[in-house]
Amino acid sequence: MAVDFPQRLKLAQLPTPLEPLDRISAEIGGPRIWLKRDDLSGGATTGNKVRKLEFTLAEAINAGCDTVITCGGLQSNHCRATAILGAKLGLKVHLVLRGEAEALPEGNFFLDRLVGAQISCYSLAEYLANLDTILNDTKQYYAEQGRNAWIIPTGASDAVGVWGYIACAAELQQDFQDHGIQPGAIVHATGSGGTQAGLTAGASLFELNAAVYGINVCDDEAYFLHKVRQDLLDWKQRYQQSLAVDTLPINVIDGYVGPGYAKAGQDVFDTIEWVAQREGVIFDPVYSGKAFDALVKEIRRRRFQQEADIVFVHTGGIFGVFPYRERFS
Ligand SMILES: *Cc1c(COP(=O)(O)O)cnc(C)c1O
Repeated sequence: MAVDFPQRLKLAQLPTPLEPLDRISAEIGGPRIWLKRDDLSGGATTGNKVRKLEFTLAEAINAGCDTVITCGGLQSNHCRATAILGAKLGLKVHLVLRGEAEALPEGNFFLDRLVGAQISCYSLAEYLANLDTILNDTKQYYAEQGRNAWIIPTGASDAVGVWGYIACAAELQQDFQDHGIQPGAIVHATGSGGTQAGLTAGASLFELNAAVYGINVCDDEAYFLHKVRQDLLDWKQRYQQSLAVDTLPINVIDGYVGPGYAKAGQDVFDTIEWVAQREGVIFDPVYSGKAFDALVKEIRRRRFQQEADIVFVHTGGIFGVFPYRERFS
C-alpha cells in the first residue's frame, strides 16, 4: 500500500539494523529472536522517541514554534531525547518532570541538564493532579515572553507520533525481505502507547503478517487497549486515513509490571546482565529489560512456540541503567 507520510525531519539514524540474538535464543530454546536495534537510532538520542519526534518536531517547527514543552518521569528517555533534539534544532526546551531532582544528576536527567533544558520538578501527587494545568501555565509563561511554545504529550504518543512506528514497520518489511524471514510476532515494551499504535497500524499497512504485542511496563491491559485505540482513531481522523483502525487487533501481554513503573524485581536485573554478557546488548530496567525478561518467561511458557522467528524491538533506554547501578551484581 502507498502510505503518504506527513512532513518529517531527518533526526534518527535509519534504517536501524535487524539482528538475530542467536546465543540467547538457543539458551531459551524457542523461536529465533531478532532484535530491531532502535537503540542504535542515535548516540545520545538513542531509542524509540526520536522516531516519533521526527514527525512531532517537524510539525512544531512548521507551526512557527521556537519552544517545546514536554513531560515525563525524572529519568524519562523521551524528555532526554527532546532536550537533545531541541538543542540540535535551536529550540528552547522546557521539561516538566515527575519526581525530586537528584542532588548529583544521573543518567537521562544529567543529559537534560547538560544540553541546557529548562526543568521544573513536581511531586508525584502534584504531577498527577495538575499536569495539564502545569503544561498550559508553562506555555502561557512563554507566551508572555513573546515565545511560541508547543506542548508535546507524554512519550510523544499521539496522532502525530503514530507515524514514527508506521515508518518503522516499513523498515521491517524490507528487513524481512533482506533476511528471508517471516516472523509471526513483533514484541516490544509499551509505556505511553505510541510505539504500539504505530507498529499496529504499520503492520497492517505494510502487510507484515505479524501480530504486534506490547508488554506493558506500567498501568494494565485495559489502559493500553483504550490508549492505543484512541491514538489510532485520532491519527485516522486527523490524517484522513482509510485504514480500519477500529477493528485492528491490539495485543497486550500484561502481568509483568512487577512492583510498579520504574521498579523492577531481581529477575529483570539478572536478565539484563545475562543478555549484556552473552550478546553485548544493553537493556534498561524500566522498559526494554523488563519487557525482554517478560518475553523470555513467555517463551519458556511455550508462547510463540509455533514461530520460527520473532522480533523484539529494542526501544533503547541505556542511560536508565545508571540510576540502578547498585542493583547489578
Ligand atoms: C518510552 C519508551 C518505551 C515505550 O514506548 P511508548 O511509545 O511510550 O509506549 C519503551 N522503551 C523505552 C526505552 C522507552 O524510552
